[in-house]
Amino acid sequence: MPAGPTEQVTLAQVGLEAAALDRSADPCVDFFQFACGGWLQTTQIPNDRARWGRLSEIDERNKAAIRTLLEEDAKGTGDATAKKLGDYYASCMDEAAIEKAGTTGVKPLLAKTTKVKDARSWFAALTELHKAGITVVFGVGTGPDLQDSTTEVTQLDTGGLGLPDRDYYLKGDFRDKLDAYREHVAKMLGLAGVPNSDAAAGDVIAVETELAKLTKTAVEKRDVPAAYNPMDMKGLAKLSKLDWAGYFKALGITPSKKLVIGTPKFFSALDGLRTKLKPAQWSAYFTYHVVADTAFALPKAFDDEQFQLTKVLTGQPEQPERSKRCIDATTDALGELLGQQYAAKYFPPAAKQRASAVEDALVTVMGDELGKLDWMTEATRKTAQGKLAKIVRMVGYPDKWRTYDFDVKRGDFAGNELRASAFETHRVLAKSGKPVDRGEWQMNSFTVNAYYEPTENNTALPAGILQSPFFGADRGVAANFGGIGMVIGHELTHGFDDQGAQFDSDGNLKNWWTKEDKEKFDAKGQCVADMYSSFEAAPKAFVNGKLTLGEDIADLGGVKMAFRAYRMMRAGAPKAIVADGFTEDQQFFIAAGQAWCSKDRPAEVQRRLTVDPHAPPKFRVYGALRNLPEFSQAFSCAAGTPMHPAQTCSVW
Ligand SMILES: [Zn+2]
Repeated sequence: MPAGPTEQVTLAQVGLEAAALDRSADPCVDFFQFACGGWLQTTQIPNDRARWGRLSEIDERNKAAIRTLLEEDAKGTGDATAKKLGDYYASCMDEAAIEKAGTTGVKPLLAKTTKVKDARSWFAALTELHKAGITVVFGVGTGPDLQDSTTEVTQLDTGGLGLPDRDYYLKGDFRDKLDAYREHVAKMLGLAGVPNSDAAAGDVIAVETELAKLTKTAVEKRDVPAAYNPMDMKGLAKLSKLDWAGYFKALGITPSKKLVIGTPKFFSALDGLRTKLKPAQWSAYFTYHVVADTAFALPKAFDDEQFQLTKVLTGQPEQPERSKRCIDATTDALGELLGQQYAAKYFPPAAKQRASAVEDALVTVMGDELGKLDWMTEATRKTAQGKLAKIVRMVGYPDKWRTYDFDVKRGDFAGNELRASAFETHRVLAKSGKPVDRGEWQMNSFTVNAYYEPTENNTALPAGILQSPFFGADRGVAANFGGIGMVIGHELTHGFDDQGAQFDSDGNLKNWWTKEDKEKFDAKGQCVADMYSSFEAAPKAFVNGKLTLGEDIADLGGVKMAFRAYRMMRAGAPKAIVADGFTEDQQFFIAAGQAWCSKDRPAEVQRRLTVDPHAPPKFRVYGALRNLPEFSQAFSCAAGTPMHPAQTCSVW
C-alpha cells in the first residue's frame, strides 16, 4: 500500500459493516469471530431456514424482488412470458383448488405404482416415474462426454434414496433419523391410501437400504475416472437384462451410442435386486416417491407431512410462507423466463461491465501467479496458463434464453408441476448424442451463487450474487475484491482443484501433468485435506477433508488471487484509504470474512458434514486465511497464533 497520504473514512463508506464485527475478539485467534461476532450475536436463524448467512440474506432480497415481478405477472395483463409465469405462480398460490383436486393429478402415476406384481408392471412403474422426472431405483441424465467434451452422452448412475446419503441407512450415527424417516414414510403412505402403511414403510426402508449398499460414499463419488465407464447398449445388456431399448423408447429418446455408467456394480446387481425384493416392497417404494416428490402440489396434509422429514433432517422448525415456496416452484419450472424479467429490471449493463472488470483482474493475476509457482516444471506451468486463458467467463445471464414448451393452467398446480418436470426431463435426455451447448447456464440469473464447470472449462457469475455484501458500485476496491473477487478467484481455482486438474483446457478428462508435478500437487492436496480434517465443526464431529478438498483448494487459491488482484488494482493509488482505523489490507480480509457470516441448526451441521462438499463457513474463513502469509502480516499475528501457524498449506 502507498505509504504517505491517507484518507480517513468509515467502514460503512467502503461497504463494510462495523456492527458485524466483534472487536473484543483477537483476529489472530479466531478471525471468523472477529469479522462476524457482532452479526452472530444479533442474528437469529429465521424459523423457516436451516442455515442463515449472507447468501441467504441476498436470496431473501431477491425473493422480494421476484415476488413483485410474479404478482405483476399474475394480474394477467402482460405478454405471453408474463402470462405463463403469472399462471404458474397463481396456480401454486391457489390452495383451495389444490385441496379440491386431492390426488387427482398423480392418479395416473399411482395407478402404475400400486399395481406392481411382476417384472412387467415393475418396468411400467419405473419408466412412468422416470418420464415424469421422479428418480427411483437409478438416475438417468446427460452430460458432456469426458473423452469428447463436445458431445452429450447419456449417463446412468445410482439414485432414488429418500434420505440425503447412503450413510443415513448404513451408519449407526443416523439411527434416530432413520427411525423418524420410517414414521414419516408410514404417514405418507397412509395418506396415499396404502393399506398397512407401517409395514409398507418397512418395505420402503428395505428397498432403499439395498440401494444404499450399492451407492458410493460421498467421497467415492468425487473419483472422476472411476465414474467414467463408457459402453454401448451391448455392454449395458451384459450388466443388466433390463429391457434397455424399451426403457429409452418409453422415455421418448434415442440414447447416445456411447453410454456412461457411473457405478457398474449397481447395474450388475440390478436384476438380482429386482427379484430379491418382493413386488409389494417395490410398490410401496414407488408409491412413496410419487407422493414425496409431488407433496407440495397435493393437499396440505401431504405437504405438512413431507415437511416433517425436512424438519428432522435439518432442524428447521417451520415451512417458509407459501409465496416463497411458490417463487421457488416457479423458478424451478420456468427459471429462464423469470431470469429474463429479473435481468431486465435489476441488472443494468454497467453492473455487468464492473463485474467483468473484477474478473479480468483476477485472470491476469492468476496467470502471473502461475508463472511464479516454484514447485512446477515449465511444461505443466505452460499448460496450466493455457487452460486459464481458455476459461470462458459468463457474467450476469445467458446470451440466449431457453423456451418452455408445455401448458401452464390456472387451477391445476399438480398438472403444471408434472408437465414442467416431464418437459425438463425430456429436454435434458434429448441432448443425448448432440453437440454440447456451451452457452447454456446451470444456474438462474437470480441465483445467489456461482460455478465453474470442468467439462466445459467455463464459469458463470449470475446477476443474483452481484450485490452487497459481495459487490457494489459504492464499495471500496478492497471490499469488492474481498467479496466477489474471492468468489471469482474460487471459481477460477476450481479449474485446478483435485478434480478440475484432471481436465484439459477443452474440458476433456486428460492428464496434462508430468509425473513429478502431479506427485507434488497430490502432496499439497493431502496437506489441505489433513488440515481440514482436524477442524471440529461440532462436538466430536469433524470436517471430512477428503470430501471438501476441491472446495478447500478453491478457497485457498481464491482468496490469495483476490488479494493480489486487489493490490494490483490499488498499486499507485494517490491515497491509502483507512476505514475506522482499518488499513486496506485489513478491509479486504474483513470483507472476505464477513461474506461467510453464517449460522446452522445442529441437525443441518450433521447433514452438511455428510453431504456438503464445502467446509462449514467458519472453517472456510479460518482455513483459507490462516494459510495466507498476507493475512498474518495485515493483522500483525505473532507466529504460533492460530491464524499464523507454523505449518501451512498452499496449492495455487
Ligand atoms: Zn466451489
